[in-house]
This record gives sequence, structure tokens and C-alpha cells, in this order.
Amino acid sequence: MADAEIIAVGSELLTPSKVDTNSLFLTHELNALGVEVVRKSIVGDDRARLTGAIRDAMRDTRIVILTGGLGPTEDDVTRDAVSAATGRALVFSQEICDVIAERFRRFNRPMAEINKRQAYLIEGAEALPNPRGTAPGQWVVSDGCSILLLPGPPGELKPMFTNECAPRLRERLPKLVIRTRWLRVAGMGESDLDALIAPVYTRYTNPVTTILAAVGDVHVHLRARSDREDEAESLLDEVESQIAELLGDRIYSRGGASLEQVIGDLLMDRGATLSVAESCTGGLVAMRVTSIPGSSRYFRGGFLTYTDEMKTSLLGIPPGLIAEHTAVSEPVAVAMADAAAKLTNSTYAISVTGYAGPGGKAPGLVYLGIAGGGKADVRRLQFSADRERVRALAAQMALDLLRRKLLAP
Ligand code: AMP
Ligand code: MG
Repeated sequence: MADAEIIAVGSELLTPSKVDTNSLFLTHELNALGVEVVRKSIVGDDRARLTGAIRDAMRDTRIVILTGGLGPTEDDVTRDAVSAATGRALVFSQEICDVIAERFRRFNRPMAEINKRQAYLIEGAEALPNPRGTAPGQWVVSDGCSILLLPGPPGELKPMFTNECAPRLRERLPKLVIRTRWLRVAGMGESDLDALIAPVYTRYTNPVTTILAAVGDVHVHLRARSDREDEAESLLDEVESQIAELLGDRIYSRGGASLEQVIGDLLMDRGATLSVAESCTGGLVAMRVTSIPGSSRYFRGGFLTYTDEMKTSLLGIPPGLIAEHTAVSEPVAVAMADAAAKLTNSTYAISVTGYAGPGGKAPGLVYLGIAGGGKADVRRLQFSADRERVRALAAQMALDLLRRKLLAP
């Protein structure tokens, strides 16, 4: 796989107010060509620093892409720096100067003397036409390294890369296909998951397996490279099937869909509806369910019963039940879920009651209930995490419990 390095040039990119977006675009396009970006950096308009950065890049990487610093003013130093780094002279091109002059004529503007600076090419470079601006891009090969000088304005850079650079790169690079798969897993920590599947994925360098973790949500990303599509797919099949067998029903999606999306699809398939009764999650479950467009087709609403009184007045939980078991208990979780399903006339209901902490009786203790399709399911969970994580984990596990119930035969 070919490697590339991107250097974004411009002092404005080192201020708090301007972001380098060109490298994101370039990385996307390069990846599609099978080129991996192995390093990127931002260098201010400083000739010496930029020369050093280009020399470093040329030493390590075969493709070096510079964006910016091709303007006509004294602070635009990319041409000078590439000239210094490669030891090649800058050569005035009358042909490019004429193109620039013609552009000014077309816009009825006088061409300033300084614009002639943009007519200098690195010795041996190929000029890349820039119909959207004055400065042409340049492509120079030095010491086996392809150096691309591209303009800074995204409106000039993008068409130049697409029209001039991508076809040239495609010609030079060996054909490479990259195919990816996503497995998303709930209810398992990152290290447990890694311990389980590492014996499989460490046997393969292609595909490359990456594990990405969020709260209660782990993604396994497989990336295969090959010169043939069918081979990339079969490399993925081989590893994915082994990992999938180990993870079993903990995998909630394979295409990248979120847990709330998967639940929405399952409810729609079954023509079923959902409601919630939340305490310690304060509406997080409902928020996630309703983040999906079209969720009104299956989500009916719910209850936010934070105090014991509200559990009684809104959901009709008997005060005696709370007194006997406390609000954070299996019987109350079941009663909350059953009440929500009944009061909203929905097929399923999720309840969450727990201590988010910190402090209190039993921080991190959460009961989840799922009503619907017969007897309610209930789950006791003890998290050791801070308040935000306990709440996020509780919402995640509640959604996953519903998913499992929806999939149960
Ligand atoms: P330059 O080619 O250095 O004269 O850049 C001209 C303009 O392009 C700058 O003022 C920025 O607005 C924009 N620009 C330059 N580099 C980038 C970058 N890496 N990402 C996004 N915009 C950029
Ligand atoms: Mg600049």
C-alpha cells in the first residue's frame, strides 16, 4: 500500500479561527485510491521550517502533498521551500505567465507585477492547470518522491486534485481495492472483547482489525486490501465469520447501524410499539429512541418518574411496593415497565430505575425492565463508573435488552 504525507501550509491554519479542511478532503480521496496518509502536519508561512518539513517527508514517504502557500505575495513560500528541499531551481515560465495574464484580462483587471511570482515552476515540474484561480499546481518527482504543490483555497484544490492528480496517481499506483466491515457490539467491555477475539485477528495482517470503544459500545472494524475486489471480500469473510461466531448475539449490527436504529427496524418489522418509564436516566433512553427519523411510527411516549411520588402518581406503583423493596429494585422495575406498556397501550416498554451516584446508597446499581410479550424481563446491573457513564451504560443496556427480547424466538 502506498503511503502519503500531507503538509498544509499557512500561518492562518495555526490560529484558533481557521481549520485545515483540505487534508480531510485529500485523505478521503487518497484512501479511495488505496493510498494511506501516514502523517500530516501544518506549517506556517515560514520558508526554513517548511523546507525542513518537506525534507523530512521526502525521506519517509513516496508521495508528499502540499496545500497552500502558492499565492503571489511574499508570505507564500511553498514554491521556494520545495526548490530548497529538492535543490532544484525555480524557472520562469512565459507560458504560465501568459495564462495568468489572460485570466486577468478576462476579468478586466490589471495584472500586478507580483503575480509573476506564480509563473515560476520548480525545475522539471509539470504544471497542473487551475481554471479556478491564478496559481497553477505543480507535480515534481525528486529522488523517487512525487511532490504535489496544490493551491490552498478548497474551491481550487478540490477540482485540481480530482481532475489532475487522481488520474495521474491511479496510473502510477498498483491497483488496490480496500473493503471494510463493521461489527457493532453492545454489553461488553473493550478489553473483554479484545481478549475474546484477539486470538483470531492477530493471525491476520490483512484484513487489519481495529477496535473502537465508546460507552458500552464497541466497534470492530475490519479493513482488507487487495488488487481484486473478490479477494478483498473473501479475506473479510474469513476473518469476520470467525469473529462473529465468537461474539454471537452480542453483535447488534454489521452494516454500521446504531443500536437505536436496529431497535427501530425490529419494532417496525413486527408492527410493534414502544414506551419508556425512566428514572435515573432522565430521558436518555427516549432521547436515543427518538433520535431516529420516523420513530413516531413505533415510539408512543413515556414517563419521567424521578421521585417515588411520581412513580406512584403517574405510573400507579403501589407505595407499599416501594416501601417494601425500595424504588431501585426488581419488583419496582417490573411494575414500572408493565405500567408504561399498559398506560400507553404499547407492545413493549422499557423501565430504568437506579442510583446514578456519586454517593448515595448503592451508586451504580441499576434495574432494567422490559415489558411486552408475556412476563416482563428484568436485569440487575452494578456499574462502577461515574454518574455520566452509569446513565449512559444504563440506557445502552436497556436498549440492548429490548433488542434481545425482540429477537427472542
Ligand atoms: P494560500 O494558497 O496559502 O494563499 O491559501 C489561500 C486561502 O485558502 C487561505 O486564506 C485559506 O482561506 C484557504 N486555505 C489554505 N489552506 C487551507 C487548508 N489546508 N484548509 C482549508 N482552507 C485552506
Ligand atoms: Mg497562505
